[in-house]
Amino acid sequence: MAGVRSPFVVVMGHVDVGKTLLLDKIRGTSVAYREPGMITQHIGMSFVPWQAVEKFAGPLVDRLRLRGRIWIPGFLFIDTPGHAAFSNLRKRGGSVADLAILVVDITSGLEDQGVESLKLIQSRGVPFVIAANKLDRIYGWKSVENRPFLFAVEDQEWHAVATLEERIGKLIEELSKFGIEADRYDRVRDFSKQVPIVPTSAVTGEGIADLLLVLAGVSQRFIPKEKLQVGEGPARGVVMEVKEERGLGVVADAIIYDGRLRKGDTIVTAGLEGPKEAKVRMLIMPKPLEEMRDPEDRFMAVEEVKAAAGVRIVADGLEGVVAGAPLLAVWSLQDLPNARRLVGEEISEIKIESDREGVIVRADTFGTLESTVLFLRQQGVPVRKADVGPPTHKDVVEAVLSRRKNPAFGVILAFNVKIPPDVEKEATSSGIKIIRGEILYRIFDEYLKWSQEVRTKTIEQILSQLTRPGKIQILPGFVFRRSDPVIVGVKVLAGTIKPGVTLVKDGREVGKIMQIQKQGKPVNEAAVGDEVAISIQGDVMVGRQIKEGDVLYVYVPDEQAREWLFKYKQYLRDDEKKALEEFLKARKSAHQ
Ligand code: GDP
Repeated sequence: MAGVRSPFVVVMGHVDVGKTLLLDKIRGTSVAYREPGMITQHIGMSFVPWQAVEKFAGPLVDRLRLRGRIWIPGFLFIDTPGHAAFSNLRKRGGSVADLAILVVDITSGLEDQGVESLKLIQSRGVPFVIAANKLDRIYGWKSVENRPFLFAVEDQEWHAVATLEERIGKLIEELSKFGIEADRYDRVRDFSKQVPIVPTSAVTGEGIADLLLVLAGVSQRFIPKEKLQVGEGPARGVVMEVKEERGLGVVADAIIYDGRLRKGDTIVTAGLEGPKEAKVRMLIMPKPLEEMRDPEDRFMAVEEVKAAAGVRIVADGLEGVVAGAPLLAVWSLQDLPNARRLVGEEISEIKIESDREGVIVRADTFGTLESTVLFLRQQGVPVRKADVGPPTHKDVVEAVLSRRKNPAFGVILAFNVKIPPDVEKEATSSGIKIIRGEILYRIFDEYLKWSQEVRTKTIEQILSQLTRPGKIQILPGFVFRRSDPVIVGVKVLAGTIKPGVTLVKDGREVGKIMQIQKQGKPVNEAAVGDEVAISIQGDVMVGRQIKEGDVLYVYVPDEQAREWLFKYKQYLRDDEKKALEEFLKARKSAHQ
């Protein structure tokens, strides 16, 4: 028989905006208002029953006319806020998370990781609401514990409300830069177009009632009903964490979003090498609060869990399983090959192995890897290889190959993984850059900066190999020597001249500049506006091939002229472009 499960809710946002405290407040409220005996604790998440919300938010439920209209059983809040948990709640083509709360500090706006959270949430297509937290910090705000925001705002001095509105206005403007239309939740007319902003305080509990009711409304309207439907068949879930537990061996904390998981079941999940089977020895859940006497003795073994559940799985064969991996239970051996195939396919969609040019990506879990690659793609950075676990020697080799096509791809981006010292050493000696970190946008920013530097250096190097255009005039009255070599005073009319360049007159070569002297001293270059003396080597004599007042151009070989015109034109100044065009025109008519 099918039933409807509670939606999974993840809390996201910049550091210190109040995610942890907000979760604590919500959980505390739920514990205070729940029915006795109701299980509110899972492994890794907490159940907030709708009845508890209704009791807690009573008058607001009536004001918003929600009584009797909510059919979701409650909410399952993921206990760990932030990117990593959200990323690991992955499933093929989307997210296990049904809803997200993007928490922002109302006094400081979105901030870096707020923006990154927003992008992550959007990239997985998860509906979300915004909690504009720290409402109690609004100057002049009068707090009453746990009061719904709608009632609180009616009871404030005008200047406190004005400050609040100004802050919300700023936030709305900031969000609009990311293509998000938002408004204070009680002013939202169309929830399918606008994201609701709920002012909250995790300290005083104000606005928490509003937040929970808005979540309920958004859940019922925007989570596809099929997604909340659970069956009774073999479990489907996702691995959130894998760790060694004393006395138990390797255990996996998982979230089961569909079906049932039983002691003795075979599960298929995945590690670095691909799909992996394990046999469930024990299923562990927290004890109901009433039975929890000794804090040391918080857990109990159960025979079976039903979706939705957060459960600790003790099983043989969990070594090497990676967070973010899918989990499929199989009840009949016949189904095993199919489960392995499904998991294998899913994993191969996350990993990338190609010979395309692009960066190398490493991340600690399947979830963070998928998020990192998605993020890079959105920013237009191609990926050659992506895998979980620390970088290897092979990665360095791949990066060297990728660099051949584009120097800005000679890099390994390492998210939340340690770099083995010998790999680090090899990277350094091969000139491969490793950028590591725990915050995606920082890694990305560092990569951008580095790739820009590399590009600039590469271009400088290319440009230094090309002859720059130039145009000079022999100054009348400044012929110092007529031949062998010619020495004349010239004015640079456009571009630059350097020793070694060939000069042409009317498209024909006259000789090479040997030396340039400025005020009696040799110089390496003369630029537009300079007046200098030059010596010209070649079969040339003043009065024959050249004369006073003549205009001469720097000879730019055909293939270099093409490079300038078609590839590097933006690196030429206007006077240089003009000199090049004149030179080419004269060449053409001379050779016709
Ligand atoms: P997180 O990093 O987002 O999980 O933030 P925390 O929940 O750890 O909160 C960071 C700091 O902000 C702590 O000192 C909290 O006490 C404080 N804080 C969180 N929420 C509020 C709030 O609503 N009002 C005020 N005044 N302080 C808050």
